[in-house]
Amino acid sequence: MTSRDARDFPSLIDFAQNKLGVLDAAGLRRDLSPNDRAGPARILRNGRVLLSFCCNDYYSLSRHPKVIAAAARALAEFGAGAGASRLVTGNSSLYAALEEKLAAMKGAEAALVFGSGYLANMGVIPALVGAGDVILIDSLAHACMFAGARLSGATMKIFRHNDLDHLRDLLGARAARTLVLTETVFSMDGDRAPAAAMRALCVESGAWLLTDDAHGLGREDESRAPLQLGTLSKGAGSYGGYLCAPTPVIELMKSRARTLVFSTGLPPASLAAAKAALDIIETEPARCARPTKLAALFCEALGLPAPESPIVPLIIGAPQAALAASKHLEAEGFLVTAIRPPSVPAGTARLRVTFCADHQESDVLRLADSIRRTGAPPPR
Ligand SMILES: *Cc1c(COP(=O)(O)O)cnc(C)c1O
Repeated sequence: MTSRDARDFPSLIDFAQNKLGVLDAAGLRRDLSPNDRAGPARILRNGRVLLSFCCNDYYSLSRHPKVIAAAARALAEFGAGAGASRLVTGNSSLYAALEEKLAAMKGAEAALVFGSGYLANMGVIPALVGAGDVILIDSLAHACMFAGARLSGATMKIFRHNDLDHLRDLLGARAARTLVLTETVFSMDGDRAPAAAMRALCVESGAWLLTDDAHGLGREDESRAPLQLGTLSKGAGSYGGYLCAPTPVIELMKSRARTLVFSTGLPPASLAAAKAALDIIETEPARCARPTKLAALFCEALGLPAPESPIVPLIIGAPQAALAASKHLEAEGFLVTAIRPPSVPAGTARLRVTFCADHQESDVLRLADSIRRTGAPPPR
């Protein structure tokens, strides 16, 4: 503690150190380790190449030659950064093609690309509801949906995960403008929301429905919400977020979504990569079906229920035990990071296993075998 800041602001240092102590004691401290992507589904970490089962790049498009070539061309032609917000000079011509494609894929009138999925939620929700309005949100919805809901100032009520009866009860009591928030594919559990029934409930009661499709891009549900939000950083392998919605809603966002208005446009390379990735998603259905097929193979090998997505949670319970299980697998050459609260509810720390197009069936069976042998975690 020799730095000038530590001497001049001792209460700041105390604050951070005390907080870290509490996190350490609970097994909840997070750390950043350098993770370089190194070949198909491979990550270079601590000097070792590990087979990763925890990337969200489900269709392995972030490393696809066509995606890389599109990004490289945009980088060379337009430069590294956007230079300003979209409303000033950061609205690259690449946006229009990307938004047109997104709207078409989602069966929506229009689309708007944001800086990230987190920023899309933080911008869209407060632009739709505020003080005096009501938000009904699934208990397992992503942290950024809760953050957007809180920021809006609307009264927030949480319904039990995927519980239509609970949602119906809360909708029945509604007197104000109501926005219902959920995910299409739940990021930490891999299950799907009952999209058609939720849409019908919202239509019946005059509520609006916003779904976050971060983990469902490329495997669109038949039944769509009027407000479909998502990210370009997972299945599309690039970066950015989006909203697909009726044209007047999209137009309103251009004036009222503060994370769009007051944030710089995306780097042109990210836009070009996302567009190239969507083109591949559209034309290669087998690539998009593969991760869930591999998840099914894995579940079958371990006697787990059939998965609804490429995401399979192995719930362990205590954060320390989840960390230990992850270490076991790392020793065997697999990277499956432990997911701990507050990313998941207390008492449900887990290994979240995800599958991607670049995995081989033999990789999947080797992982299942390793999990069975190390006894960690106990399959449920
Ligand atoms: C990952 C995720 C986000 C955040 O998207 P980014 O583009 O990474 O900011 C939002 N919602 C859900 C459901 C997610 O899983």
